[in-house]
Amino acid sequence: KRQMVRGLPKQKPITGVKQVIVVASGKGGVGKSTTAVNLALGLMAIDQSKSVGLLDADVYGPSIPKLMNLKGHPELSDDNRMIPLINYGVPCMSVGFLVEDASPIVWRGLMVMSAIERLLRQVEWGSLDYLVVDMPPGTGDVQLSITQNIPIAGAVIVSTPQDVALLDARRGAEMFKKVNVPVLGLVQNMSVFQCPNCHHQTHIFGSNGARELAETIRVRFLGDIPLHINIREMSDKGQPIVISSPDSSEAEAYRKVASAV
Ligand code: ADP
Repeated sequence: KRQMVRGLPKQKPITGVKQVIVVASGKGGVGKSTTAVNLALGLMAIDQSKSVGLLDADVYGPSIPKLMNLKGHPELSDDNRMIPLINYGVPCMSVGFLVEDASPIVWRGLMVMSAIERLLRQVEWGSLDYLVVDMPPGTGDVQLSITQNIPIAGAVIVSTPQDVALLDARRGAEMFKKVNVPVLGLVQNMSVFQCPNCHHQTHIFGSNGARELAETIRVRFLGDIPLHINIREMSDKGQPIVISSPDSSEAEAYRKVASAV
């Protein structure tokens, strides 16, 4: 791996895309995809003149189709590039649009790389101010090759306040630093649960872990997203909270992250 980093291949920009922001996490299930979707919609909400796209690079568990309520196969342009599917004003591309059904995808190394290559190079984005990339969780070869292939404006790292997630988040931050991708900061997800009945607040995964980690590894703390049933329910319906309940405090939390980015 070290050798790959040393011999950094030349990075080529994605045609039409001004800035790529990757959303990463050290491990799965911490809310990376949910954050990526709401960050993309949040960027648009805070400045409607900006055009934003979403690329689902999580080839092992693509969730953008469901989160953005999109299905189908992309059509091809005259020069054989895939045309993104659009919902809520956001053009999206996902490996989920390319495979037949949602059954677990069994990949071999080479297939992963060629899928990534296709997603990075053969999509007709038009002109975008931001492309938000939902990365695969962890810090393996796939993540590394994405960071080596395209110029990245910055990485947002999502973590829960739980120790093990934090350790993995730290590893993620270190990977980006090693390949000279600026870490824009850390988002703490699921930090507090407020009981909808009695409004008591519980810190299920601990309270301030990500904030403290951000200080320790000297990256910015971008904000707290509460553990909230509406976030989960609306995500499952393909109606992200920033769009479906723009006036809620949860949506506000995502917009805060978007303005900090
Ligand atoms: P990852 O991309 O890290 O694997 P997901 O974004 O798919 O994680 O989230 C995992 C699950 O947790 C999903 O069911 C999602 O709806 C839920 N979830 C994520 N963030 C929150 C939150 N802040 N509150 C409630 N549920 C959440």
